[in-house]
Amino acid sequence: MPSGRSLPAGAPDPMAAQASRRHPAAGTTGAASTASTAGEPAGEIAVLWITAGLSCDGDTIAMTAATQPSIEDLVRGAIPWAPKVKLYNPLLAPEVGDEFLAAFRRAAAGELAPFILVVEGSVPDEHNKQEGYWASFGTDPATGQPITTCEWIDRLAPRAWAVVAAGTCAAYGGIHAMAGNFTGCMGLPDYLGREWRSSAGVPLVCIPGCPVQPDNLTETLLYLCHQFAGLAAPIPLDEALRPRWLFSQTVHEGCDRGGYYEQGEFGDAYGSPLCIVKLGCWGPVVQCNVGKRGWIGGLGGCPNVGGICIGCTMPGFPDKFQPFMEEPPGSLLSSAALMTYGKAIKALRQFTKDSLNKVPSWRAAPPRRST
Ligand code: SF4
Ligand code: SF4
Ligand code: SF4
Repeated sequence: MPSGRSLPAGAPDPMAAQASRRHPAAGTTGAASTASTAGEPAGEIAVLWITAGLSCDGDTIAMTAATQPSIEDLVRGAIPWAPKVKLYNPLLAPEVGDEFLAAFRRAAAGELAPFILVVEGSVPDEHNKQEGYWASFGTDPATGQPITTCEWIDRLAPRAWAVVAAGTCAAYGGIHAMAGNFTGCMGLPDYLGREWRSSAGVPLVCIPGCPVQPDNLTETLLYLCHQFAGLAAPIPLDEALRPRWLFSQTVHEGCDRGGYYEQGEFGDAYGSPLCIVKLGCWGPVVQCNVGKRGWIGGLGGCPNVGGICIGCTMPGFPDKFQPFMEEPPGSLLSSAALMTYGKAIKALRQFTKDSLNKVPSWRAAPPRRST
């Protein structure tokens, strides 16, 4: 079980998976080592993380807040039976420059395996201009020229055991791919192809969010580590390549304010404890577990703490959710209906509540008399 908690509805039971599959690349070359056999702790798997798409690095920053598991748990090998993660992330690494790039160069040359490639940020179209480049990561020592992010993806993805798109930019284009942008940027499924499979047969995994919910990212990495070790079934993904068990519910289905919505009690100003759909919350139609999971250590999460849901996990984000801070058109009808029958239900509940606040008549003590 990835998170150490009970499995959410729909989550596959990793222990039911065949326990002795071995990845063909395991133990072949480089620093990282083998997948486990049943009952043995797994070895090590590298995670090569590129934040040099069109990115704000927010998903890496978010990940540092994860607790279930924490990134420290993953890199220390503290999760039973999961392979230890050897992390190469430019924001978190002590190395810089060529020293940091060395692992990426070795992986591109087939000298470091197995590894999971994580891409953060949207992928620009480097063919839509006469000269220059949109995004790069290090330079070519032979020519001194920048190596574009696209070239890195082209070199590394075919050798990766799995590829993960971290954050909505990498998954679907996100903010940088808004209408009118001139980079022609896109998400990894559009760049690699929606049917893309790694050399181990693992489909592209998208973990959207802007930024991604911290535990969603580390839990998915842990799931893939368990799968690599032969301890988990192939990761179940939905039609948008999101892990099913994390993205099957709407924000609304787990929101702390759902009771107010049901009773037609809507806030009209920020700071209100009531449902904030009229301030622009898209929670009823957005697939995201933040309402239920919270943000850090189970606490927070956008609407739970008064922030409208702007649909940041969805492939249509942000264009289809604008203008933010206006009531979603689709909620006008449902909230109008709720204003009628929700208030009637609340009045009936108030009647019941008043009754329940009184002890039963047959239990009431008779009036005391002094004489
Ligand atoms: Fe930044 Fe959001 Fe893009 Fe992540 S998805 S890189 S947090 S803009
Ligand atoms: Fe649903 Fe948003 Fe209201 Fe929460 S605040 S109950 S997610 S509409
Ligand atoms: Fe994004 Fe909405 Fe989820 Fe917040 S609740 S993380 S805005 S999808």
